[in-house]
Amino acid sequence: MRIGGRRKSVIFFLTFGILLVALALALNVGWILLNWRQVALLVLGIVFFALIITGLVLNTTFLIREIRRNEQHDAFINAVTHELKTPIASIRLYLETLKTRDVSEAQRKEFYDIMLADSDRLLQTVEQVLHAGRASHKQSLANVSVIDLGRVVRECLDLTRVRYNLNPDSLLYVESMGEARPRVAGDEDELRAAVSNLLENAVKYSGKEVHISVEVAALDDRRLAVRVADRGVGIPRGQLKRIFKRFYRVQGGFMKRFKGTGLGLFIVRSIVEKHGGRVFAESAGLGQGSTFTIHLPRA
Ligand code: ADP
Repeated sequence: MRIGGRRKSVIFFLTFGILLVALALALNVGWILLNWRQVALLVLGIVFFALIITGLVLNTTFLIREIRRNEQHDAFINAVTHELKTPIASIRLYLETLKTRDVSEAQRKEFYDIMLADSDRLLQTVEQVLHAGRASHKQSLANVSVIDLGRVVRECLDLTRVRYNLNPDSLLYVESMGEARPRVAGDEDELRAAVSNLLENAVKYSGKEVHISVEVAALDDRRLAVRVADRGVGIPRGQLKRIFKRFYRVQGGFMKRFKGTGLGLFIVRSIVEKHGGRVFAESAGLGQGSTFTIHLPRA
């Protein structure tokens, strides 16, 4: 993925560290050698000192960032392992029951449905990881065509309604486009993935009471907006930007009950940026619901 870039920055900071040590040595030796030149020494000393302090601050920032990234990697590996293991264990259990016990026809059908749902979950996790891998590359879009975004969003809503067994009132759709159709030039599958990810999050982070409203609106002559608003757990103000980073998940006691990999919003942002748009989150704080908005250029 971005191993090349990371190796480069590690080499950069390593060289930087070595230079700093050399600078410190030069300062010490210079101090002794140039002792008689009081003024020059003072000026040099101040400059070198400022340089060393700046370097140390930069190095420490880099180290802290690396440590944080490592922690997020660990959390990600744990989350993915959990997301893979749970459905596999469940499928195994049902298969063993089917093999060793006599079950009624109705029960057998129920077991098949559960196993299908589990394999869907498995597939979704694997696809999410693969998609995130692709999203890290700065490739341009493959299948670009002019798409009716209203239709794509409505189809995603229908799918979410069926998948999570939601009643029609819990997912509202509004289109404020006037006469025009919300057309964008882009890759339909990718845009569908972006909208679905936002909808799935809205359902997941709503808990039991799901009230989601989705709006497709004209911002101006050149831009469209898709807004997904929920009344769920909300997002702390300080983390509204960070949640789009790869592997990033909001921490905190009650967030533990929500499972996930921290890839969804990273995928959304990559897709939207490849389409020349941007995405941002708004929330009045914890417990206040969240709104995610995508801006895309009109076709
Ligand atoms: P995941 O949901 O797998 O953790 P995402 O990248 O989709 O990963 O989301 C990153 C984080 O952003 C989540 O862990 C969650 O804390 C926060 N988040 C995303 N969507 C919502 C939402 N609709 N309401 C509240 N928090 C959200």
